[in-house]
Amino acid sequence: MEACNAYYYATRDPLGRDGDFTTAPEISQMFGELVGAALADCWKRAGGPTAAIYAELGPGRGTLAADGLRVLRAAGFAGEVHLVETSPVLREAQAKAVPDAIWHDSIADLPARPLLLVANEFFDALPVQQFVEGIERRVTAAAGGLAFDRDGEIEERSPAREATMNAIATCLAHCGGAALFVDYGHEKSAPGDTLQAVKGHRYVPVLSDPGEQDLTAHVDFEALGSAARDAGAEVTPVVTQGAWLNNLGIGARAAALATANPERVPELEKAVDRLCHEEQMGQLFKVMAIHSPHWPVPAGFAQ
Ligand code: SAH
Repeated sequence: MEACNAYYYATRDPLGRDGDFTTAPEISQMFGELVGAALADCWKRAGGPTAAIYAELGPGRGTLAADGLRVLRAAGFAGEVHLVETSPVLREAQAKAVPDAIWHDSIADLPARPLLLVANEFFDALPVQQFVEGIERRVTAAAGGLAFDRDGEIEERSPAREATMNAIATCLAHCGGAALFVDYGHEKSAPGDTLQAVKGHRYVPVLSDPGEQDLTAHVDFEALGSAARDAGAEVTPVVTQGAWLNNLGIGARAAALATANPERVPELEKAVDRLCHEEQMGQLFKVMAIHSPHWPVPAGFAQ
């Protein structure tokens, strides 16, 4: 999964209508603006430390960063922008959207400063392992192509995701800051096979075309929350994307944009529906934040 995704992201921009999948920031500017507002509010309530940086993991085309930073800058945040991205193709797109950014290959390379961090649909792309009765399920070369070597009740674990969360939480616990994580997944750990592949906006068999299709697995927010707590960060409840965006005021933002641009009303209504409706992204996608014990709880997590 790690090798396939490294190749997949390094060789294309997979986002948008002509690509393989579309993400929340690509649906509407309102998503990034509300992320920016939540981070700006938290930063201000923390006293507005000037050493703080904006950091994003897997920023895609840089759309979320550009929309979020517009709001952060308007709120007085003048800190640096640090993007963790391995794909050269996507780094190029990000450089157009956020020209003054500083890029890193790994979270370990982020400076030791207070963080305003966001990761949207990042953890789902990090590799998982699957176990059947405690034995790791592996991929073998079979007559007709690739195949799994065993079937049964599957348990997924992701040391890569937990190590990533541990690194962020350690940084927050020592230097201050808050981090927002948005992804599809479940609030409580549970057995099940959630590995999936998407190509051209359709689900495809996971082993059919390795490296040429987007390979993801649902995020286990309970496991990520534990990893963050173990490293000394505080963790919010997990809320649905729909509830979170409504709590942050997507309705008011849509209304303001509609008043300023009446011709955009149909587009704005459709975007709110896609982002918030429970049959679209509203329920499947979850949001969790972690923060330094010395920083306030980010807004939006009231249940
Ligand atoms: N956050 C963006 C893009 C999500 S796609 C959006 O919401 O539109 C996943 C992103 O994570 C891509 O930018 C991809 O190149 C990046 N990525 C995947 N695996 C990575 C890794 N191991 N290290 C750094 N970036 C990675």
